[in-house]
Amino acid sequence: MTTAVTLDRVSCVFGQGAQAVRAVDGVDLTIEAGEFFTLLGPSGSGKTTCLRMIGGFTLPTAGRILIGGEDVTQRPPYARPVNTVFQDYALFPHMNIRDNVAYSLMVRKVPKAEREKRADELLALVELAGVGERRPGQLSGGQRQRVALARALINQPQVLLLDEPLGALDLKLREQMQSELKALQRRLGITFLFITHDQHEALSMSDRIGVFNAGRLEQVGTPQLVYNAPATRFVAQFVGAANVLDGEPARRLTGHAAAMLRPERIRVGAADGARAAGTVAEVQYFGAFTRVRVDVGGCAIQADLPETPASRPPATGDTVHLHWDDRAVHALGPGAAA
Ligand code: ADP
Ligand code: MG
Repeated sequence: MTTAVTLDRVSCVFGQGAQAVRAVDGVDLTIEAGEFFTLLGPSGSGKTTCLRMIGGFTLPTAGRILIGGEDVTQRPPYARPVNTVFQDYALFPHMNIRDNVAYSLMVRKVPKAEREKRADELLALVELAGVGERRPGQLSGGQRQRVALARALINQPQVLLLDEPLGALDLKLREQMQSELKALQRRLGITFLFITHDQHEALSMSDRIGVFNAGRLEQVGTPQLVYNAPATRFVAQFVGAANVLDGEPARRLTGHAAAMLRPERIRVGAADGARAAGTVAEVQYFGAFTRVRVDVGGCAIQADLPETPASRPPATGDTVHLHWDDRAVHALGPGAAA
């Protein structure tokens, strides 16, 4: 496999002195060609800054950036083999869709007939054939998002950078675009570097995920690895729901100094063979499952119980017995930080 993007100890500090913000703090990362790679992290964790440095819109204060093995750290955006889709799409409202898509070809003085042919090919690729004459204001949010995608793909970038491109869409449309975007990436074979703060989006779309927290990468791995074997407490709690146990309850219930137990791996059952018993403190109905919070000797444990026709979910105040497999327990390193 060849390497699409390499970040070599990249940092970015905004401002100076007491006001300085270390937006990206010594990040090392390698993204392989053809990967769908997602940077996942909460708002303000440094994802956009990282993407802007790869695109050339922000210069790192330290470190090197390589694209396709070439050091591009000092190159301007137009001299890098990448393109960016921004969250707000940034379409030109006064231009029709075909000209929006063909814009970069126009700047490069590609003849009109050729650039219109290319634009129409790209519009067909994103399933928008026939809208070339319309203006952005006449399209829906989902259609505008596809136009932005077509525009970013027209000069055949090696790497496509996508900064929360689905953030403005409502849930149903977002889920549809997630699978379309993933299918498009597979078909084109272009490396996608995708940003989101949405764990479901990251888990369902990515070949690998890098979890960002406070300017640092806490873990890089497949969705399965990040979900089942989080490297840190932050990753355990940010990606999915988690019971993170510490101290005496952790030792008593799991045999580890600190451990994570996913709520959907816990079952309610007979007293015989149970790992723990407690009182139901809260019950929340989610449709596909019911989330119960159980007070186990002063320690709250959350369990997500699937809905079954046979069993009534427990009610507040019930005594329940909790079961789980040894394999459901993931040991975490010590450390007081939550
Ligand atoms: P994310 O995309 O994960 O929400 P950002 O990369 O936008 O995070 O921001 C990371 C941190 O850097 C935040 O604290 C943000 O306020 C700060 N920051 C981003 N851009 C600038 C800027 N141009 N000037 C000063 N601070 C900035
Ligand atoms: Mg951002």
